[in-house]
Amino acid sequence: MGLRSRGRNTEHKRNSVLASRLSSLASRLSPLASRLSSLASRLSSLVSRLSPLVSRLSSLVSRLLPYMMHQTHDIQILPAPLIRLIEELSRLPGIGPKTASRLTFFLLRAPDDLPRALAEALIALKEQVQFCSRCYFITQSDLCAICANPARDQRVICVVEEPLDVVAIERTGAYRGLYHVLHGRIAPLEGMNREDIYFDELLDRVRAEPVDEVIIATNPNLEGEATAFHLQRALTPLGVRVTRLARGLPTGGDLEWADPGTLSSALEGRREM
Ligand SMILES: [Zn+2]
Repeated sequence: MGLRSRGRNTEHKRNSVLASRLSSLASRLSPLASRLSSLASRLSSLVSRLSPLVSRLSSLVSRLLPYMMHQTHDIQILPAPLIRLIEELSRLPGIGPKTASRLTFFLLRAPDDLPRALAEALIALKEQVQFCSRCYFITQSDLCAICANPARDQRVICVVEEPLDVVAIERTGAYRGLYHVLHGRIAPLEGMNREDIYFDELLDRVRAEPVDEVIIATNPNLEGEATAFHLQRALTPLGVRVTRLARGLPTGGDLEWADPGTLSSALEGRREM
């Protein structure tokens, strides 16, 4: 019994020493814990402040990366005038970077007179050629050769999309009136609206000039038909006769090979013989 009670006493003492040590440890740990928690809260606020900065930086890098790659890659290897010509040619319609590079290297290897002639032709184009102030066909003076010709029928205006359409109609020799070049057509899907072409300029002409008839010769496709519709709606209230080019069979063609659209247009546009 004596031994056991002594043993219990020592156990009790050990326990109390352990408890006091634990409590002192706990009291020492508690400020550390509070410091840690404040540190954690500071870190989290720092992270939340940094995260928009990081996302901004990453978007900036992703935007700059192609440019930096391009710059470092090309400028180190290729001379600047070559890069410049590739970039300028790439701005032309229907010419991608590949075609632009091909043309640039072709010009680089070409005899000296070719690039010089090309450059002079480009400068002369912008310096010497302009649009006719009346019909917007191409000219070297204020009025084009057709508008300046008093023998042309001043009472008829033929409306076309592009200057080359004028050339095509002139080649027939069948038309003696004037023209109006729209320089495009209404195509909302391509961002081409009424104000992007010379549409209202035609209305101004019809109001100011002694016009009896406007022949609409826009292309027989979806955009051309839509443009013709808008023109007809705007012109009719001005008291002018509005006509549309007939669509039909090509000369020298075979009836059996004509597409259904052309054949039905030819039937609709039939006339007395
Ligand atoms: Zn003209």
